[in-house]
Amino acid sequence: MLSNREEAALAIYKRKEAMKPQKEEILRKSGFGREVNFAKEGKCPSCRRPVKRSDLRDYASQKEFDASCLCQKCQDETLGSF
Ligand SMILES: [Zn+2]
Repeated sequence: MLSNREEAALAIYKRKEAMKPQKEEILRKSGFGREVNFAKEGKCPSCRRPVKRSDLRDYASQKEFDASCLCQKCQDETLGSF
């Protein structure tokens, strides 16, 4: 049984997963090339601090990280608005 927060994270993850093949290209063309580069360096594209998968709290956070590369703190801030 998932909590509401995990359901929300999973819904976001599935939405992002669906557009994954062109994701990087779309992001770069949309002017987010810098963010893509941060993510590739293992840094959170939002706060630019290094982020590791092992720092994430739970499965839903790891899935969100796979999709957005956001650290736990930035995920909390983003998903907290749900
Ligand atoms: Zn962050």
